[in-house]
Amino acid sequence: MQCPTCGESFVPQDSVALPFCGARCRDIDLGRWIDERHSIPVERQWDEDDIGEVMN
Ligand SMILES: [Zn+2]
Repeated sequence: MQCPTCGESFVPQDSVALPFCGARCRDIDLGRWIDERHSIPVERQWDEDDIGEVMN
């Protein structure tokens, strides 16, 4: 299965936040959505370019 946020392949059974690979990608996606809809500044711990490095 491929994560829609980071594009990494992962095993669905290992994820607690389907269809994302993990809670952090789910939160990133949620943050994006909030940004687009409400323009609320969201402090993110992970930049999109860093996701691959943070992933376990
Ligand atoms: Zn992901």
